[in-house]
Amino acid sequence: MRWTRRTGRAKPPWRLSARTLVTCSLSTIIGFSAICASVMIDLRRGEEVRARQSLDNLAAGIGADISRNIELYDLSLRAVAANMLLPEINEVSKPIRHLILFDRASTARNFGAIQVFDPNGRLTIDSATLDPVPENRSDSDFFQVHRDRTDAGLHVSRPAQHHGQYSIALSRRISAPDGRFAGVVAGSIRLSYFRDLFSRLSLPAGVGITVFGRDGTIIVTAPFDPAAIGRNLARAPAVTRALTEPSGWSTSVGALDDQSRLLIWRSGNDPLVVVASRTWDSVYAVWRHEAAQIGAMMLALIVFVLAATQVAAREIQLRTKVESRLQQLATTDSLTGLKNRRKFDETIEIEWRRAQRVQAPLALLMIDADHFKSYNDTHGHQAGDQVLVGIAVCISDSVRRAGDCAARYGGEEFAVLLPGTAEADALHVAETIRNKVAIWAGDAANTSISVGVASVTPARETDWTGLLKAADRALYMAKAAGRNRCATVAVPKPRPSASLAA
Ligand code: GH3
Ligand code: MG
Ligand code: MG
Repeated sequence: MRWTRRTGRAKPPWRLSARTLVTCSLSTIIGFSAICASVMIDLRRGEEVRARQSLDNLAAGIGADISRNIELYDLSLRAVAANMLLPEINEVSKPIRHLILFDRASTARNFGAIQVFDPNGRLTIDSATLDPVPENRSDSDFFQVHRDRTDAGLHVSRPAQHHGQYSIALSRRISAPDGRFAGVVAGSIRLSYFRDLFSRLSLPAGVGITVFGRDGTIIVTAPFDPAAIGRNLARAPAVTRALTEPSGWSTSVGALDDQSRLLIWRSGNDPLVVVASRTWDSVYAVWRHEAAQIGAMMLALIVFVLAATQVAAREIQLRTKVESRLQQLATTDSLTGLKNRRKFDETIEIEWRRAQRVQAPLALLMIDADHFKSYNDTHGHQAGDQVLVGIAVCISDSVRRAGDCAARYGGEEFAVLLPGTAEADALHVAETIRNKVAIWAGDAANTSISVGVASVTPARETDWTGLLKAADRALYMAKAAGRNRCATVAVPKPRPSASLAA
């Protein structure tokens, strides 16, 4: 127990209330949930960044391989186109011409033969044979592009099936020194090249690669989908961006399939655009699993904390109730239900100091049952007890203001403390009590009380003993004057409090 300097009252030690406990628990739960949510959001963002990085690396790697091979093949086409302009080329024998034109030509498993077409679209030279089967490609897309445009450069055709195999044609214009159209040199890359390339990679679930031509036509996809080859997606916003921006990323639903996907592309100025994609479902699959686990654990923890809080709060409430009951019992007189002597002593101390602070009067009534010894002797102790209860009821009925304190002072004596009450009003209250007792007792019981009244506005640095003594003296005077009456005594000028004076 700590004692406050101001009131001198014992200050109860700090106790955790049920409300504080619930507030703390809820704050803790909300705090932890917020931290948990923030960590989960960070993890989710991390998954997204990792997915973007790995897709970017994938697109860059595939793009580099494709560019290198196309460049090599293009070098061969350029060499043929240049050599076709040599004046001697039509004068030498076919084997020599083959050697001149295709000596440095790139050959690989997936590269098709290089063919030369004259300005009318007729196949004139074929790297695969000295005597090519006559063929006219004047209606082919690639032929018309080079015939009509001088700046087409390396032209990559849409994928087409040739001899049962899908391939793309790469072609260059043969321009005479005066700029005249002198034919086309064309070769092909089979789509099996791309499939071989993709098969060397182990693509995780949900990851896809799509190679587009510059016009937005799908050349090939991984996983391989024959139905997708040749489809033009130039109008899909994400694909439009991939065709126009050298690199970037986007998220789209329905650009490649009906799934929501993260798309990353690296194209630079290459003739083909590689788009690596991954479904958002697969990007967040691991995160979702972890989030579900952590969420379940958090939920279990929250439920546990709430349940524990509820149990503890109930305990605290119960304890508080018991304590307040005990407190009530400890301050109540068991016979009369009034405050007991201990509580009275505490209260007079507090009220004295308050009256000192606000400079208001404090009145004290000392009440004593008359001839009570003889009443006990005549009617018995238990009947005497009933009279004491009756007197207590009369007192309680007359003293109703908040702050008033009616107490059993001891034996058949009662004390009533009336804060803010001057002598005249206190006397009035005393008379009310006395009358009530008289009415209640009637003539037969011959029960009455005498009341000593004193009131004072406490001077600073004084204690309440002067007030008590004055009320006592007034009571003595009432007894001496014949009992069943009230008397007042002026409180003598208070002497300074011993403790404070020291
Ligand atoms: P007076 O008018 O001068 O006050 O006379 P009195 O007889 O009341 O005074 P006294 O102090 O001589 O007697 C008090 C009596 O009160 C003595 C005791 O038997 C009685 N008494 C004290 N406490 C109790 C109690 O709790 N119950 C009962 N029944 N009697 C009590
Ligand atoms: Mg007495
Ligand atoms: Mg008495």
